[in-house]
Amino acid sequence: MDLHQRTEQFRDRYRGNISRHYSGWLHGAFVFGVGGALMIYCFSQAQGLQPWHWLLVPGALLFTNVGEYIAHRELGHKKRRWAKLFYSRHTGDHHSFFTHEDYLIDNSRDLRVVLFPAFLLVAVTLLVAAPMGWALGQLLTPDAGWLFAGALLLGYLLYEVVHLCDHLPASNPLTRWPVLRQLREHHRLHHDPDIARQKNFNVTLPVTDWIMGTWYRG
Ligand SMILES: [Zn+2]
Ligand SMILES: [Zn+2]
Repeated sequence: MDLHQRTEQFRDRYRGNISRHYSGWLHGAFVFGVGGALMIYCFSQAQGLQPWHWLLVPGALLFTNVGEYIAHRELGHKKRRWAKLFYSRHTGDHHSFFTHEDYLIDNSRDLRVVLFPAFLLVAVTLLVAAPMGWALGQLLTPDAGWLFAGALLLGYLLYEVVHLCDHLPASNPLTRWPVLRQLREHHRLHHDPDIARQKNFNVTLPVTDWIMGTWYRG
């Protein structure tokens, strides 16, 4: 059986196990609607900022860039006892559903295997953005803390948007944006089973891949 046939077989099995109550549109609406609203709320609380506070935005985006790299490489592609679900959803499901040859979704129900589960947004908000924003608020000013928390959520949502675009059918106009086209190719190459454990762990800009020497251009 070749790679394409194995992928098709996995897709049939995976799709057969998706609950009939699942809606990809609702899943997307939760991630981007609730995530976007939380982000806007944080930014709206950040009034009276000093000009240099804006440096916290690229700082937070760099933090999420390194975070996505480490989580992807160390939890998505290595089995850890305390993060089995992450590994099985990523290596087990996502990488079996998409390869560099078959990397596009067919319909909205396939979003089940593309978007992070809704609870991860809640966990990242409560366990990462809120405590880091609070700590920075104590260290600098509360406004700076809100700005940083909002930018962390922006980084999370950027990952979700870019990764969604990575797997959209080529007919979708979003996939034609030049930067997205490049990022799509970056991620498509990552889905090659021969290099998935070694290269292209960033999904948004490949900054940490560049720093770590794992940027593969094909
Ligand atoms: Zn992917
Ligand atoms: Zn991966």
